[in-house]
Amino acid sequence: MIWNKNKECMSREEMRQLQGARLRKLVDNVYHNVPFYREKMQAMNIMPDDIKTIDDIKKLPFTTKQDLRDNYPFGLNAVPQSAIVRVHASSGTTGRPTVVGYTRRDLAVWSEAIARCLAAFGASREDTISVAYGYGLFTGGLGLHYGVEHLGASVVPTSSGNTDKHILLIKDLGITGVACTPSYALHMAEVMRKKGITPDDLKLRIGIFGGEPWTENMRKSLEEKLQIDAYNIYGLSEIMGPGVSHECECKNGSHIIEDHFFPEIINPETCEVLPEGEQGELVFTTLTKEGMPLLRYRTKDLCSLIYEPCECGRTSVRMTRIMGRSDDMLIIRGINVFPSQIESVILQLPEFEPQYLLVVTRENNRDNLEVHVELKEEYYSDEINKTIEMRDRLARRLQSVLSISADVKIVSPNTLERSVGKSKRVIDKRVLE
Ligand SMILES: [Zn+2]
Repeated sequence: MIWNKNKECMSREEMRQLQGARLRKLVDNVYHNVPFYREKMQAMNIMPDDIKTIDDIKKLPFTTKQDLRDNYPFGLNAVPQSAIVRVHASSGTTGRPTVVGYTRRDLAVWSEAIARCLAAFGASREDTISVAYGYGLFTGGLGLHYGVEHLGASVVPTSSGNTDKHILLIKDLGITGVACTPSYALHMAEVMRKKGITPDDLKLRIGIFGGEPWTENMRKSLEEKLQIDAYNIYGLSEIMGPGVSHECECKNGSHIIEDHFFPEIINPETCEVLPEGEQGELVFTTLTKEGMPLLRYRTKDLCSLIYEPCECGRTSVRMTRIMGRSDDMLIIRGINVFPSQIESVILQLPEFEPQYLLVVTRENNRDNLEVHVELKEEYYSDEINKTIEMRDRLARRLQSVLSISADVKIVSPNTLERSVGKSKRVIDKRVLE
């Protein structure tokens, strides 16, 4: 079902008109209410009147995570503190968190955006959905929570952490949809299997997965193990939280809620806007945000945009899967390597679990990539020859995809650490000399 046909099925020209009008209003707002943007625009010699159509967005300054840190905590807010009704924060890898304030209207936009996502996943008011993202400063829990309520479905706020209890609730309450990270869903599937619970014992039919990049093969694995339809939901707290984009029944790219979040793809090195279809860094402008509106925020996520209308009937632009992050790309022996590439190779081979760990070391100025991968129980064997054969096959495939050799280490079933939140799958031990 399409929740908001008016906005999700607009013609390209109507959408551009709407985006242009909203951009003009936004630029006028930040110029007058956010000193950071006024100073940046003055330095670039740009006045609000210079922005006439959505194409003029190219004239505007970018915003980075560092800008958010420099203006910590509320320096980028465009409204007085009295208009802020909620605050979320994302943990930074170093130092201060990124703090985002929302007005009442921002929260209403967020809930409606998530209702659009859930409707696209085939959810309705008949569904019962457990939200197993963390509730708290992280946007995943509360964001999904109010979206499920806005849709009119029942929400079960399980939060993250207690897998046994969660599985019990899924079974006993007849939960039909679960929202969590895909790696946690895989973990849940494993726990269920060990408990002897099969998908036939459950009413589960929809997986709402996000919070970390995942692959097509991981989708297959989740759909098979849990007998569900697994959908991607994408977002980031700086822009709003989950619900910036979502898949539909076609599972071929995520529709961006582009009447609120205007996307661009840039070359991460030169910041030049790339032509349609090219892969680069995703940038968002929050067209309607009141609390902390952002111009051209650099997400560091790498993907491309698809403007062709989708078979589902929506005309909104789609983004491809995130191919990696411009800052977690590994450079090994001078070659760009994304953990997601390695994951997709592992998932193509039936012998291996979708669990892996990458260890990068440097010896005598030469990089070495170790890929630790877990065998499925049914393929586990004492015969050393069989293990060597599987190892070599994986190594050959990795070599052909990555163009560099990797040292594959096969480990016994259930030995790699499972993560409840974002996966920690890379250990880079290199010390630059
Ligand atoms: Zn679609």
